Amino acid sequence: MSQTTYLLKITGLVQGVGFRPFIYVLAEQFDLKGWVENRNDGVLIKINAEKETVLHFTKEIKKQAPLASSIKNIQFSKAEDELFTEFRIKKSESSSETVTEVSPDIAVCDACLEDMKSQKHRINYPFTNCTNCGPRFTIIKDLPYDREKTTMAEFEMCDTCKSEYTDIYDRRFHAQPVACNTCGPNYSLYYKCNYITKINDILDVISYLTEEGKIIAIKGLGGYHLMCDAVNEDAVTNLRILKNRESKAFAVMCKDAETAKKYAEISSEEEKTLSSWQRPILLLKSKHKLALSVTNGLSNAGIMLPYMPMHYLIFEKLKTDVVVLTSGNFTDEPIITSNEEALKTFDDKVDAIITYNRKIHNRTDDSVGIFANKKLRLLRRSRGFAPSPIITDFNTEGIFAGGSEFVNCFCIGKGNQALMSQHIGDLKNFETLDFYKESYELYKRLFRFKPKIIVADMHPDYLSSKFADDLHKQFPETELIKVQHHHAHIVSCMAEHGLNEKVIGIAFDGVGLGDDGSIWGGEFFINDLASYERFTHFEYIKVAGGDAVSKEPWRSAVSYLYHYFGETVFEDLNFFTEKIESKNLKMYLQILKNNFNTYRISSAGRLFDAVSSLLGLVHLAGYHAEAPMRLESIIDEQITETYDFEISDNISFKKSFSGIINDIKNGIKTSLISAKFHNTSAEIVLQTAKKMREKTGIHKVVLSGGTFQNKYLLTKVENQLSENGFKVFSQEQIPSNDGGIALGQLIIGAKMRDKI
Ligand code: ZN
Ligand code: ZN
Ligand code: FE
Repeated sequence: MSQTTYLLKITGLVQGVGFRPFIYVLAEQFDLKGWVENRNDGVLIKINAEKETVLHFTKEIKKQAPLASSIKNIQFSKAEDELFTEFRIKKSESSSETVTEVSPDIAVCDACLEDMKSQKHRINYPFTNCTNCGPRFTIIKDLPYDREKTTMAEFEMCDTCKSEYTDIYDRRFHAQPVACNTCGPNYSLYYKCNYITKINDILDVISYLTEEGKIIAIKGLGGYHLMCDAVNEDAVTNLRILKNRESKAFAVMCKDAETAKKYAEISSEEEKTLSSWQRPILLLKSKHKLALSVTNGLSNAGIMLPYMPMHYLIFEKLKTDVVVLTSGNFTDEPIITSNEEALKTFDDKVDAIITYNRKIHNRTDDSVGIFANKKLRLLRRSRGFAPSPIITDFNTEGIFAGGSEFVNCFCIGKGNQALMSQHIGDLKNFETLDFYKESYELYKRLFRFKPKIIVADMHPDYLSSKFADDLHKQFPETELIKVQHHHAHIVSCMAEHGLNEKVIGIAFDGVGLGDDGSIWGGEFFINDLASYERFTHFEYIKVAGGDAVSKEPWRSAVSYLYHYFGETVFEDLNFFTEKIESKNLKMYLQILKNNFNTYRISSAGRLFDAVSSLLGLVHLAGYHAEAPMRLESIIDEQITETYDFEISDNISFKKSFSGIINDIKNGIKTSLISAKFHNTSAEIVLQTAKKMREKTGIHKVVLSGGTFQNKYLLTKVENQLSENGFKVFSQEQIPSNDGGIALGQLIIGAKMRDKI
């Protein structure tokens, strides 16, 4: 039988994840001759084979592909005949273009865990890794991805590691961070006046201290964590005090998936994601068996599984099967990555500090997600996900999108790829702003990025907008584009789903500057990628107090009530007014009456704040979005009723608030009222979308904005819209909060370029 020459093109995330050696070994097994090459848009393979073999080969590629790769498509076609005598890995031709892929960090694989039990040079070695697993992004300083350009550079490979590294049939072939007991990095522990370096002794101390309810600072993959027994109430309470009395829920790490089921209700999809190589934190329905102050009154618990070899070693020794593992920082600062800073910061605060001597070059937080309608929704995209590119349909080359302010990620464009940064955080924090600037420099260098178009939020005071302004001044040849916040939210979602047409865009969130100078956030757009039309919105109410408005939900409650019912309503509202300091209430009402420094908002976030406060749940928020989160947390899911509302020129909640007040006065349970309010919001979306469809004929609805992190609301809205013939698109891999906005900005920038 004659052999033909075939060309296979594999697209997806197939670079920097050991894909070429994998193809090499597989080709050898198939006895194929030819070559494999990295291209900037995937991997190219040329082989001499019969069609049947090609089909079989393709099937095996899909089946056996490296853990962290994700194949989008394999195409093959006949090529001009060429006879090969061997199979080889071809040197990349367009080397400047091939530097666009950096793999995210990958959780330790099963084979490596096995090696830690059986390989002489890796017994209990906590930095064991291979081609399929281990640190990546966190240790990379520059590209191409070679050991010398990572923080592993200072560790010289021993002969054993070297032979594994150079053997194409070895699992550690070209695994840049390859290491063992003899040559690799090591952990050390500071405990009282002791400095311990033997791994087994370290594990003993960790186990002892944890059992005693002590708090340990431990260096993770992308930054330091603080750790304590998650079923020990005193330990967790002490940790809260240590973290400046933080009231946000803490994430926990469970020994394994079976253990996790003890602490939370977990569906099979959720279990799969928990155990995936990305190992994100998932918010899961708590079974309330953790120390109460772990979740601090919320119905969900943030759970993750071990992802570093050290985590596994620790759980082997620990008596408890669940520990709090929260970021090692105080309040809004970025997590600590440097050993010096950790020793300085934690020294007199924790009972022991565990560190290791490999540097973290790129800070990454644990990623966070939640399942809604059986799909993973990332709320924080960081470890395991960044900096994997999002493939777009546009030329994004040279576009820098600055992101938002409070939950910041930025985005740069390379070819047709959008490279979202890891979660950066709140730019108002000085250290975080530094982190933002450093990360931009890193991405610029790493991805050989030259800014041509700079995109920023319209809000002039966002530090990301100011950074964009400065960048534009620095490179006057660049184009500077300012985009509307909610348009960017919706386009972010459209980009995720490859939409490029007119859609019904619905954005619900806390704060975003509108083009009439008011603060928007309950928005219904008819929009495409380039422009939008505001179809309708939540009725404006007046608020006062800048940042205090979101930090003090009672202000939104007073604003709504005053707006709809006037001052007299407060005379008969003791259940609410007695919870607020009367002089504050008086003063705030005075401000509203006199219209002194007030501004208009149509924000969904503030509406949810108002209801949460009115129900007595949260008057002063201890953390961002606490009021809406607690409101969602108490929902009685059996309830299907709604409150009345009015849709005319805009959307009025006057009747809804009347209903809520009546229900409270009649002693109706808050869990019921909360459900009715959520149902009302979902009904408003449906009714408004129907009006928009009637008028425009558009039936595709795109949902985005931080309010859609609310699982109950998102699920309900999606289901109702689908049942009514709409095609619904919501965010999955890209956060619907402001952490996803940079992708939308980037695409708007790409679309604008066509017009420049
Ligand atoms: Zn491995
Ligand atoms: Zn070694
Ligand atoms: Fe937003």
